[in-house]
Amino acid sequence: MKLIIASNNSHKIGEIKKILSDKFDEILSLREAGIDHETVEDGTTFMENALKKAREISEISGECALADDSGICVDALGGAPGIFSARFAGEHGNDEKNNELLLEKLRGATDRSAHYTAAIALVYPDGKEVTFEGYMYGKIIHAPRGTGGFGYDPLFVLDGEERTVAEMTPEEKNAVSHRANALAGLLSKLS
Ligand code: IMP
Repeated sequence: MKLIIASNNSHKIGEIKKILSDKFDEILSLREAGIDHETVEDGTTFMENALKKAREISEISGECALADDSGICVDALGGAPGIFSARFAGEHGNDEKNNELLLEKLRGATDRSAHYTAAIALVYPDGKEVTFEGYMYGKIIHAPRGTGGFGYDPLFVLDGEERTVAEMTPEEKNAVSHRANALAGLLSKLS
């Protein structure tokens, strides 16, 4: 069976290919599958968005499709930025502006707890759907540190750690990340 990942993000695709390679004959990114399609992410939860992306790609391709949607939820902000993490400061994917805004909104806050969430949805051509959500818990520090990772990683310190996620190696992050947890859960449901 073929699996199409509803993404062109090489970091995500590598991670997903590694974990699910035993379960599918071939795993392709959207680009590798020759699909040029952008889903309108108008769901109200991470899982609604992941399901919408996977359903559309499965429908277009006639194959199995896997999609993820992720972001960071900050307790003192009532769970924001949540599903709006990529465009928190307005412009999609501007990590620096997003991080600046997060620090500004948390100025003076004593509760700095936060967690990353990743929702993963796998949709089969016959309509069967398998989903799983993974988390990574920690806190937001007061100034960015580190150059690894992406997004909010320079501001996020995992519970029990001193370093930010941007100061951890990719292998260390991939062993504990919200996305890795979600993929492991999905894999256990497939086994
Ligand atoms: P998407 O699921 O690729 O749309 O990611 C949504 C946004 O959430 C990203 O643009 C980042 O701002 C944030 N995000 C998701 N996962 C991570 C992560 O592992 N590290 C840092 N930021 C993340």
